Amino acid sequence: MTHHPIVPLDPTGDALHDLTREATAFLTDWLSELPASPASDYRDTARLTALLRRPPGDDPGHLGDLLDTFRQAAGQGVNTAGPGYLAYFPAGGLVSSVLAEMLAQAANRFTGVAQTAPALVAMEHGVLTWLAARFGLPPGSGGLVTTGASPANLSALVAARHARLGEDARDGTLYVTEHTHLSIAKAARIAGLPGRGVRVVPSTPDLRMDVAAAARMIEADRAAGLRPFLLAGTAGTTSTGTVDPLPELARLARAHDLWFHVDAAYGGGFQLTRRGRATLTGIGEADSIAFDPHKSLFLPYGTGVLLVRDPALLHAAHAADGQYLQDIGQIGDLPDFGHLGVELTREFRGLRLWLPLHLHGVRAFEEALDEKLDQATLVHRELAADPRLDVPWEPDLTVVVFRPRGGDEAGRELLARINATRRVYLSSTTLGGRFYLRLCVLSVRTRPSHVRLALDTIRTTLDHLTPTP
Ligand SMILES: *Cc1c(COP(=O)(O)O)cnc(C)c1O
Repeated sequence: MTHHPIVPLDPTGDALHDLTREATAFLTDWLSELPASPASDYRDTARLTALLRRPPGDDPGHLGDLLDTFRQAAGQGVNTAGPGYLAYFPAGGLVSSVLAEMLAQAANRFTGVAQTAPALVAMEHGVLTWLAARFGLPPGSGGLVTTGASPANLSALVAARHARLGEDARDGTLYVTEHTHLSIAKAARIAGLPGRGVRVVPSTPDLRMDVAAAARMIEADRAAGLRPFLLAGTAGTTSTGTVDPLPELARLARAHDLWFHVDAAYGGGFQLTRRGRATLTGIGEADSIAFDPHKSLFLPYGTGVLLVRDPALLHAAHAADGQYLQDIGQIGDLPDFGHLGVELTREFRGLRLWLPLHLHGVRAFEEALDEKLDQATLVHRELAADPRLDVPWEPDLTVVVFRPRGGDEAGRELLARINATRRVYLSSTTLGGRFYLRLCVLSVRTRPSHVRLALDTIRTTLDHLTPTP
């Protein structure tokens, strides 16, 4: 016996209207409660994780109950959508992109090749070529919207391997630093390169790739019969947001005929700002750029971008053919995204970018990112002025690392206590063998009042920290 309407598999009319109304009411409530929600919450986690593994029943459920379950589950753990989230790389998640996602999935057109949805592919391609131009890549550049920077780094590496090494990658070497994101080494492993091929170039005391050391390693490796093929610079490292010396790295890569990849997963969005362009100078010299709009364009998780100077090389490394694709032809100069990356079938990911950019306008992003740069400058200034803290590096972008003068144990204690307030949530990293707390201002929802709250919370927690003997 059911007291609620059964939702048909393909609802139309009133049933559809009721369904979407209930979902949007849920969305509105959820977002309005977000600022007051705890920055992290594990109080009900044990009960809920046990309860929620229940398999689906044969009989229909009730949408209201199911949404309530989702609300409880989504409230557990770290509140990555909320304004107090200052760990890793916060973005918030623009609602315009959420709506775009719903509409794109409802249209459910096939964008793996241009022929089945040429105008949608053109919309996505337009965003990619606009981004490429903003980075200073030449006309004719292109790329792919991925689910994140990890697959973007992978496809860039595979394109570089294919273009520079051909079939036999055994003696190939690529150059990173200890601050390079783990996804590059992971990509090398997936791409079939031996672990010894990932060469870790020393960093300078300001945490940037040592260009002279990189040049010496490349020359020594080549003299030893190895085949250097890729130099990976980072525009905003994960630990400290530091930007490698991109113009010098570009010159080094050219001089040695290496593919120059720039991992701008975090830093890329700042290219829309004047200060960011100055910091990222040289990025337009890259052969490929990975960028995460789910970081510095405030989008929800699941949106990465790969940009390449020569899309033909990306195509050559990924394209394959099958008899079942024999009806598919080329449409003008539109790309077939299914031949540029790992996926064939994919959602129309372009609308997630296209709708927010066109709806809000590019200036809104520039201003919001400028606000983040200002906020990070403020955080750095205030923390550096506190005699109890050691704050060794000025931020290139919006990541500030700091440690209490008491040492690593005091640092861990400070982080645990700050996060236990549930007002803000920070993370940590290790640099030069030492523990650092790490604060990143990047969420669209983190406004000046939340930054002041974070600074207050850090200071008050320090006041109560037991001094280490
Ligand atoms: C976040 C990040 C990545 C990985 O990106 P995902 O979107 O998590 O796959 C790669 N490189 C850098 C520099 C990052 O900050």
